[in-house]
Amino acid sequence: MNWITNYVRPKINSLFSRREVPENLWTKCPECGTMLFHRELSDNLNVCTSCDHHMAITPRERFKALFDNGKFLEVRVPDVAADPLHFRDQKKYPERLKAAQKASGEKDAMLVAEGEIGRTPIVAIGQDFSFMGGSMGMYVGNAIIAAAQRAVALNRPLVLFAAAGGARMQEGILSLMQMPRSTVAVQMLKEAGLPYVVVLTHPTTGGVTASYAMLGDVQIAEPGALICFAGPRVIEQTIREKLPEGFQRAEYLLDHGMLDRVTHRKALKDELVTILRMLCGLPPAVAGDLPAPDASTVAPVVTPAPVVEPEVVPVVVAAAAAAAVAPEPAPVEVPVEPEPVVVPEPVPVPEPQPEPAPQPPVEMPIDLPESMPEDAPTEIPDETATAEK
Ligand SMILES: [Zn+2]
Repeated sequence: MNWITNYVRPKINSLFSRREVPENLWTKCPECGTMLFHRELSDNLNVCTSCDHHMAITPRERFKALFDNGKFLEVRVPDVAADPLHFRDQKKYPERLKAAQKASGEKDAMLVAEGEIGRTPIVAIGQDFSFMGGSMGMYVGNAIIAAAQRAVALNRPLVLFAAAGGARMQEGILSLMQMPRSTVAVQMLKEAGLPYVVVLTHPTTGGVTASYAMLGDVQIAEPGALICFAGPRVIEQTIREKLPEGFQRAEYLLDHGMLDRVTHRKALKDELVTILRMLCGLPPAVAGDLPAPDASTVAPVVTPAPVVEPEVVPVVVAAAAAAAVAPEPAPVEVPVEPEPVVVPEPVPVPEPQPEPAPQPPVEMPIDLPESMPEDAPTEIPDETATAEK
């Protein structure tokens, strides 16, 4: 009995208590102290619902909200030499790296993706502050180069979401080398005439602000983000003066001409779409351009829609096709007689006319899946080859 009560039971209890349910379900807002339920918080893109404080968000979560229908393709980033300096502080560098990989499920502090936002094809790159402080190491440099190369190859704009504590100390001079490397990558975009938009999130500091994070054609920041090279505490200790209120925060930098925009996270997608379409010379985004409602609103109005719709429906996403088919049975029952004989012929003519408007945007999603799998395998080996040189 003793062995069971003293050893086995605590072991079982510890296995279950490791889940730490309360901590995962509720998050305390660091600004106003409100307890926020995890689902409510993630629905609101990790922005506090009571005070609008912008909390950290992982690149993957951000991309899911940013890209149309949450769909994006990851761009492969070439591998880097592991721990070339054999660095060790309290822990070995590979140990720290492994712990961060396990906690985040990501390879390193950068995620590169391609996809469409508001039907505007882009390449996006997001920095993960939860991964070793988003620190800029060799992998981050490689990710920026891979993203820039991909953007140039696809002739798409690049959007970068920065969040970093600076350079990765464990990689020493090799991390500092990523400043010129990433600057060259940004230059590559500029030479190709492609827009480069930077979104600065809380916090973006150190070597990152001394390189790629400050080279955007348009510089946007999230509200309240700390953006600086040396932090306010260091400056205060050095100059021994009290710094002004809100020093180095996004709003302060906007007032002092360091930024173009300070944009709420929920308004960011629309703003990026507008800016990128303007910079790429594309027509303005179609507002409320959902393919499914078009198909379903047409279907109930005209009964013989089944005859014409097959032309349109295959173009629309599978879900839209299902939605278009669903409403049909109801209208069919009401006007039973005129349906097969008279109506099919005259009605199809007016019908395609209202629909051409949604059609051109509808075609775009098809380009995406078609082109990307073709390009992806051919391009990625190139990136690896060039980056390794
Ligand atoms: Zn709050």
